[in-house]
Amino acid sequence: MKILSKPKGNAEEYGRWSVNPYIGCSHGCKYCYLKSGPSGAYLGQNKPVLKKGIVNEEHAYHLAMAEIIEHRDEIIRDGGLFFTFTSDPLMRVCRNLNLTIADEAMKWHIPVMFLTKSEIVNTWYSHVATFQEIKMPNPMEDIVGRYVAFGWTLTGQYDLEPNAPTNDMRIQSMNAFYAAGYRVWASLEPVIDFKASLKILHYALNAGCQHFKIGLMTKNTKVCRNGFTIDGTVFPPYDPAECLAFVQDVMVATEGRATVYWKQSVRDFIGGTPAHRLFTDKELHNIFDNYPHSVAKDWSMFNQ
Ligand code: SF4
Repeated sequence: MKILSKPKGNAEEYGRWSVNPYIGCSHGCKYCYLKSGPSGAYLGQNKPVLKKGIVNEEHAYHLAMAEIIEHRDEIIRDGGLFFTFTSDPLMRVCRNLNLTIADEAMKWHIPVMFLTKSEIVNTWYSHVATFQEIKMPNPMEDIVGRYVAFGWTLTGQYDLEPNAPTNDMRIQSMNAFYAAGYRVWASLEPVIDFKASLKILHYALNAGCQHFKIGLMTKNTKVCRNGFTIDGTVFPPYDPAECLAFVQDVMVATEGRATVYWKQSVRDFIGGTPAHRLFTDKELHNIFDNYPHSVAKDWSMFNQ
């Protein structure tokens, strides 16, 4: 039974080592990648449960830490641990175990990144209560906190994520964590509507977001060039001109405020197909990489 995994393809653009003690998720996103494919019935369960073969949280913790310590040097070399690809790591039921593993890993000087749609605080909590609730050290007081970054997925879509806290609630959480001194970032993936994603990016910037990863809808790791269907609703193909304008707007909005990682799906879409290239490599470089705040796949928030 393994708790760590080394993802490939789109997922690897988030992290090369992921920690996955739970499978399933109750947020109910209609585009959920866990629900598709042959393992969809197992991975895409509507409630998070410990992976088959794990007896309880303590068992999961010991399994995870044994693997983490065994691979510590490689994990650090590869940029740290990512929580998580098989669930939402900060849903109430998963939170305690994932944060406990993260906290211990940080003591081994391993950076950890979270990506969630959960609302971790609400406006009734003071920051102090927040840190107690999530059992993490306040980075302003404890050097260990330097190794953690909290990210929220923001799509600007409300109907497609029926059971998740709204995008606004996630941004509130981001802002509280930013105000308390944590590194905060956002995943804008999948972009479904360019205008909605740009709008939510501006909200996130105002909440203190320091880094964005941005990707389009994909299927089997390939960008959905010809449109896609979510829960019976047909979405038309992305418009190349609109996508290009989106990239330019994002680079202007984030300049001097946040770094941006453009996922391969966006690069592939703008670049065209091998049979029908829309831009040369040099032109693509100018579109995506010719900015100091555009970062490469192996860039890390922890080197800043
Ligand atoms: S939050 Fe992630 S894992 Fe959970 S339902 Fe949505 S897409 Fe799936």
